[in-house]
Amino acid sequence: MALNFICNSAIPPRVKVTFGSKKSLQDVKTLIKAIGIPSKSCSPHESLQKGNWVKLICGASFEDVVDIRNLSLVYTLAGVDCIDCAADQSVINAVNEGIETAREIVPIRRPWVMISVNDDEDLHFRKAEFDAENCPSDCSRPCEIVCPANAISIKREKSTVEVLSGTNPTGQLKGGVLTERCYGCGRCFPTCPYNKIREVTYVRDAMATAELLKRNDVDAVEIHTSGRQTHLFRELWDDLGDSVQYLRLVAVSLPETGDETISSMNQMYDIMEPHLSCFNLWQLDGRPMSGDIGRGATRESIAFAVRLTASTERPPGFLQLAGGTNAHTVDGLKKRGLFQTQNTSAESKHLHSLIGGIAYGGYARKIVGRVLSSMQCENGPAGIEHHSQHLLEALKQALDLVGTVKSYTTSNPLVTQP
Ligand code: SF4
Ligand code: SF4
Repeated sequence: MALNFICNSAIPPRVKVTFGSKKSLQDVKTLIKAIGIPSKSCSPHESLQKGNWVKLICGASFEDVVDIRNLSLVYTLAGVDCIDCAADQSVINAVNEGIETAREIVPIRRPWVMISVNDDEDLHFRKAEFDAENCPSDCSRPCEIVCPANAISIKREKSTVEVLSGTNPTGQLKGGVLTERCYGCGRCFPTCPYNKIREVTYVRDAMATAELLKRNDVDAVEIHTSGRQTHLFRELWDDLGDSVQYLRLVAVSLPETGDETISSMNQMYDIMEPHLSCFNLWQLDGRPMSGDIGRGATRESIAFAVRLTASTERPPGFLQLAGGTNAHTVDGLKKRGLFQTQNTSAESKHLHSLIGGIAYGGYARKIVGRVLSSMQCENGPAGIEHHSQHLLEALKQALDLVGTVKSYTTSNPLVTQP
């Protein structure tokens, strides 16, 4: 069955879903039941209070709706609390279709859907761009190799003689960046020996985003900011206007900026506070878009958390790690006594865990993306529920990651060990 994404209605109508092999699908249900996810999945807000909130970051710029739908489906089954995606109608539809398809497989609570905006130029809001026809034909294409999103596709043109003789093509390169798959990590830029790759940055339109926030299937917004120019933050907040009244959560994602960090957080909180009628969260963006690189990538977000939790001056709101988070993040938090540790300081007004939870982006997409790629190679673009063996494989990967925060037991033989 072809995927069905409805791009122009506020709430996409549900399509009748058919599923793949009954045996594998039964294994998926058995696995989820054995772990007890439906009964363990408390509301996203309770997860923040307990410190076991998990957010899947699809990416502020990632717009491949087939992958986004499948990622959302798999991580909903794994029990995430929130799915963060681009502020784009077709992307939001894809996320919600993935969520609802997961809920047809197993009755599980719906994660919140969050969309991202920026108040200024930001690494998360950019794309790489080049035309391979301008590249030297003998280039070894290191850009293609380094891209973690398979977002660069280059082919060599074949002459008629080469087609007829079956010899390797020697002609001009064709192709470039697959815009919808590029999420702006920037790793291809320095690899190009000929400086052919351009960086295209953009700022999401606040008014258009405000309209999307009124949808029934959007629960939260994330504002990406450097925290250095609060007048830009104020402008964006004003432009979002009444749309924030429709939300359950407002998140602000910011990098560490040294001594200024807490004072700028307080300024931003003061800007938001008069119109903030829901929960708020600070996303501590350690080393952006790097969780898939390796163990050490998570150090910066943990160091950021250590500094913030040590301060009594920080504004109200949940704290959540991101930027470099991966399978080692929970261990790092445990070593510093910050994993699911309740805030007991006398001056505290916050009756919840010091750290609300963790958002996973590049690492979460990488471990499930391997299964999605192999499924796509074998079958072309498809809903993962039609290929239950792949769904089972992808779910095991997702559970291994989400389970480190949610404390799932992985003793069931169906679950792979990390
Ligand atoms: S910026 Fe990152 S995702 Fe985009 S094409 Fe370059 S390496 Fe790939
Ligand atoms: S490395 Fe540079 S020159 Fe070579 S294919 Fe990539 S963009 Fe073109």
